[in-house]
Amino acid sequence: MARVLIVGAGLVGSLCAALLRRELSQRLLRVVVWDKARGAGGRMATSRSSHDPKCTADLGAQYVTRMPEYAKKHQSFYEDLLTHEVLRPLTAPVDGIVMKEGAENFVTPQGISSIPKHYLKESDADVFYDHHVTQINLKDGKWEVCINTGSSDQFDVVVLTMPVPQILQLQGDIVNIINKSQRQQLESVSYSSRYALGLFYEAGTQIDVPWAAQYISNNPCIRFISIDNKKRNIESPDIGPSIVVHTSVSFGTGHLEWDKEKVQQLILDQLKDTIPHLPKPSSIKCQKWRYSQVTKAFPGSPGQITLHKKPFLVCGGDGFVHSNFDGCIESAMTIVEALKSSL
Ligand code: FAD
Repeated sequence: MARVLIVGAGLVGSLCAALLRRELSQRLLRVVVWDKARGAGGRMATSRSSHDPKCTADLGAQYVTRMPEYAKKHQSFYEDLLTHEVLRPLTAPVDGIVMKEGAENFVTPQGISSIPKHYLKESDADVFYDHHVTQINLKDGKWEVCINTGSSDQFDVVVLTMPVPQILQLQGDIVNIINKSQRQQLESVSYSSRYALGLFYEAGTQIDVPWAAQYISNNPCIRFISIDNKKRNIESPDIGPSIVVHTSVSFGTGHLEWDKEKVQQLILDQLKDTIPHLPKPSSIKCQKWRYSQVTKAFPGSPGQITLHKKPFLVCGGDGFVHSNFDGCIESAMTIVEALKSSL
């Protein structure tokens, strides 16, 4: 039985794990998922209020947008998530939203991380958090994968799904396994950077605005504000509302190395100007997205690239296609095809 390690419990890693379970017998391989974070989701992150875990906010991805060119090819993925009530059509008003003709938006009532969690559950993989992979070495025809605590384990197959700059940070034999041309192409992949703020409120607090979310074009700092529970169609008297603020990319890039508390205050000051009578939140979370959305994908957008054949080492993620749900499905599908052909 082959042991497969998937690094990353974001959308691509968790979907890979589910597809492997769907397509290959568990007698053939055993899947293990490691993520450096404390929970699943990656950039499909749902954060909880420190005062009330029922009060949540999506700090990364906001919606799933079904692009018309993928509607047929990815139909079964949408049907599965709609049937399991992970997805629901977006019905709340979003000011300033620009939609491609034929595209459709969906929201996640339980938060955007419910998508990767749905796939991890289906996969039946062994999932471990707080596992920050630092080194990958070849040892006796297997991969020896080390984490930051110094411990390591051996695998027959390794799948890397983190943002490309984080793949290039890995140490060990992998440094020499990536050839010169692959390295150049990997180095050409780029991402935007931005900050996200989550504001969590006590139950019963009223946020008095006519929209559920709004795109802002005339503010140097803020690009998007969402009354997150309203956007997700969850309005309950027992759960406090939450607000999500995304900064513009220029603000994010310009303040990338700033002290987080200072950045948080700058965003709050701009938010006060935009919505003057906002009540005081019970807690706030500031999230820096150094690698937010792909601005330049791997040349040719292949979905994955195979770094080593025997033992098998492959990398994928939105950096190999584009930053949305359809792009991540493409990446996961191509990874699984490559992996199957290696067995
Ligand atoms: P990730 O989600 O980044 O997953 C990679 C995982 O690898 C992470 O969990 C990380 O913790 C882990 N990891 C990294 N390095 C290591 C390591 N060394 N060891 C172990 N684990 C590691 N998409 C949409 O479809 N709709 C939207 O509305 C949308 N809006 C967005 C808004 C923002 C602010 C951001 C940040 C993203 C948005 N996106 C949106 C993009 C979408 O979130 C991504 O395309 C998608 O989540 C990428 O999934 P992934 O699995 O490729 O990578």
